[in-house]
Amino acid sequence: MRKICLLLLLPTLILSGCTLPFTSAPGPDGPSSTGYLGRIDSSQVTPTVTPSNTPTCTPTPTNTPTPTPTSTPTPTNTPTPTNTSTPTPTFTPTPTPLPVNVVFNETYLSIIKERLQSYTTAELGDSLTSSSFAEYKTPYRTSDYSDYTITDDKVIFRFAANTLCEAHPAFTYETDLEEAKLFMNYTEDGVLFSETRIRKDLDPNAPMICLTFDDGPYDKVDLELLKIFEKYNGRATFFFLADRYKTQKWADTAVTLYNAGHQIATHTTKHTYFRDSYFDPDSEKYDGMKLFWQEINDSSLKLAKLVGHAPSMIRMPGGFWHDYMKNCPMPIIYWSISSGDTGKGTASSPWTAQPGETDQDVFDRKVNDISKNVLKGAFDGGVSLMHSIKTTSPEAVEKILAELSEKGYQFVTIEELIYYKGYTLKNGVEYCRRSWARTQQ
Ligand SMILES: [Zn+2]
Repeated sequence: MRKICLLLLLPTLILSGCTLPFTSAPGPDGPSSTGYLGRIDSSQVTPTVTPSNTPTCTPTPTNTPTPTPTSTPTPTNTPTPTNTSTPTPTFTPTPTPLPVNVVFNETYLSIIKERLQSYTTAELGDSLTSSSFAEYKTPYRTSDYSDYTITDDKVIFRFAANTLCEAHPAFTYETDLEEAKLFMNYTEDGVLFSETRIRKDLDPNAPMICLTFDDGPYDKVDLELLKIFEKYNGRATFFFLADRYKTQKWADTAVTLYNAGHQIATHTTKHTYFRDSYFDPDSEKYDGMKLFWQEINDSSLKLAKLVGHAPSMIRMPGGFWHDYMKNCPMPIIYWSISSGDTGKGTASSPWTAQPGETDQDVFDRKVNDISKNVLKGAFDGGVSLMHSIKTTSPEAVEKILAELSEKGYQFVTIEELIYYKGYTLKNGVEYCRRSWARTQQ
């Protein structure tokens, strides 16, 4: 298990000896959050999303450490300890904070940027809001957030004068640690969070397939899928729309799936199709860039608050791609096997009632066609696309799982797939259309 040195991650907490009880729900197979912040194995640090800087786990004092007596209380009146037989003092190195994008999912930085844009005080004046920094088309820059400190209840970002734009004073921006924890890439024990969501007992040599479901949550379908996946010891990845969490039973459905070990990723808030016009300066939809960031930030924060941790992946509605999406703070996951479940059937198998047919006949034909499409396209490492809002999904999935399990397939989440296949994902890169392709069989 890959761990990271939390001596560097949360220096102030460690130095003050505080514990940090995380509230994020661990996966069923993950470690429980009962740990104490201590010195963690520092052997290997490889976040799933490759950061631009490789963190070091060797505390490197930048200044000569000050000897600190380990047990003798500092006298208040005399400068020298009264106990002259004090044991050899230990040395407390000055911790160097880890790069901010190693500690946090970068979506958090994007959210902070959006908040900073509306953060005006008498001290700051209009310098931020009137600058290019305030323009939505300017993506967050990781380097802007590199000077930060984590205290026992806050994350404090410091911005030097004139760094975000011209002519602003130096200032600090404090945010709530409880919220920030939702975006941390590591647990309190220094374990990569995504690994707590991965089953470690899968067979790396047996084929794996990931079935994904968009546009939910929808209790009527998703809770049926839950039962079917349970029957086959399978898990899936769901790309949900944050607007649907407004319906309590659907929000509850998302939590139920997450707690059962399924992966929940974001499919934005409102299902906006980000066509090229949204990113074209000459288009009346140019303001779409603002919407692009809002859709990512808002949907991630809502999902994080709902299930206890931020999503690590996104699927853009409609599968659209524009070069501007390279600025996306998450990997963009598409699909390599289409079920066609949003289609109308084919000429030889139309999904409309033919003379003498009942609705059930049409439904059965749809289920049959959808499951055949997935079965025909199935391959080790494949990612299929179906929908939570299609009532055909449970029966089609039952057929798919029954047949593929006969062939030895394991049904996994995207997180599990990349873990077992040894893939490395990068932010702002689309996957499954141009990689993990069927040609890689
Ligand atoms: Zn969709």
